[in-house]
Amino acid sequence: MDEIKEGLAPLIKQRKQRPKMSEEERKRRKNECEKRRYRRIVEATGKVVRERARTAEETKAWRTERVACECGCIIARGNLPVHRRSKKHQQLMFEISSRAES
Ligand SMILES: [Zn+2]
Repeated sequence: MDEIKEGLAPLIKQRKQRPKMSEEERKRRKNECEKRRYRRIVEATGKVVRERARTAEETKAWRTERVACECGCIIARGNLPVHRRSKKHQQLMFEISSRAES
């Protein structure tokens, strides 16, 4: 038990020494993240408002847009992550890779 602890000690030390993300860095990252989602608009009065960079319709259109998967299927973009985990996709990818080998 003690041996394990000793083995872990340098790792734990390393972890503690890792520099913390500074407040500024965190703010910058948060800002970048928001920039992608929101548009800053300066009104005529000088007031700054935020607006979604994409409208709901645009997002929906983007999601339902048909795209070709690497397996050859045509599917909605929003469905890609689900499709990639599907049996159909894995089977097709397996067939493609085995065809490439032969
Ligand atoms: Zn696929």
